[in-house]
Amino acid sequence: MLQVINISFGYKNALVLNNISFNVNAGEHVSIIGESGSGKSTLLKLIYGEFDLNNGQIFWNNIEVLGPKYNLIAGPEFMKYVAQEFDLMPYKTVEENIGEFLSNFYLNEKQKRINELLEVVELSSFSKTKVKLLSGGQKQRVALARAIAKQPEIILLDEPFSHIDNFKKQSLRRNLFSFLKNKNISCVVATHDKDDVLSYADSIIALDNGRVMAKDTPRNLFNNPKNSLIASFFGEYNVINGEIVYAHQLKIVSKSNLKAAVRHSYFNGTYYLIEVNFKGKSIFIENVCEINQDDIIHFEIFK
Ligand code: ADP
Ligand code: MG
Repeated sequence: MLQVINISFGYKNALVLNNISFNVNAGEHVSIIGESGSGKSTLLKLIYGEFDLNNGQIFWNNIEVLGPKYNLIAGPEFMKYVAQEFDLMPYKTVEENIGEFLSNFYLNEKQKRINELLEVVELSSFSKTKVKLLSGGQKQRVALARAIAKQPEIILLDEPFSHIDNFKKQSLRRNLFSFLKNKNISCVVATHDKDDVLSYADSIIALDNGRVMAKDTPRNLFNNPKNSLIASFFGEYNVINGEIVYAHQLKIVSKSNLKAAVRHSYFNGTYYLIEVNFKGKSIFIENVCEINQDDIIHFEIFK
């Protein structure tokens, strides 16, 4: 189990993270969410031992993770970290990169393992390609495969799919996260993408102003967003009479007390997002079809 106990840290005087505590069980998947600059990457780097803490302690089981004052090389053996800026060996092939940390003692086993990892990140046909010839997204996939090659006990992933296009993202998420679950590898994922979280995370930690602002399951946070910041992470939302209401919780009906004028219809694939003027404020409503500008509509809240 990972234990983050009352940690505080600042690069200079101001604290970036202030008294953060949480645990991650073996095999558990925890997502760290928060706005850009909220300290997600810093938190992962601290867990990896890249910086010395101002306060607090971090343990994996009974082993304390220590910063550079006590450890020349960051990153304990049982932990892997894939940074936002991944570093690979550009002049080596994809499979050489993935196999870098694997033992050469049993070459057949090594090759089998590399092939399995190539499948997880869907790069089998690029095994002999030099990494410098790959796209950003492909390089990110090599970095992910390399990090799980030796099956760490815990892996820290910083925006793991940020360079990967939508064509590949969905299947890659399923492959990687089910690989980690099957092997009982704990993971801590910093992300600003709800699709990395909703189907996969066991729990979410939301950071705001250097503090843990919320900690709960994806379902609870989604169903009861306690503030606008949480709601905005999950999707389009409105504040109506002080209450947070997602766009999909509003329905256009033929008659109701709530009346508004249409400003714009945005095509969204499976639905249209209708922007209406309600008491001088924009409200967003999901609807099956588009509606002409200036039409008057009625809507109701269905929660
Ligand atoms: P996030 O990953 O959530 O976007 P970061 O952890 O990267 O946030 O950054 C948190 C804060 O720390 C930001 O204000 C950022 O400017 C600052 N910061 C990040 N890295 C450094 C650094 N190496 N030196 C000084 N300040 C930094
Ligand atoms: Mg970051």
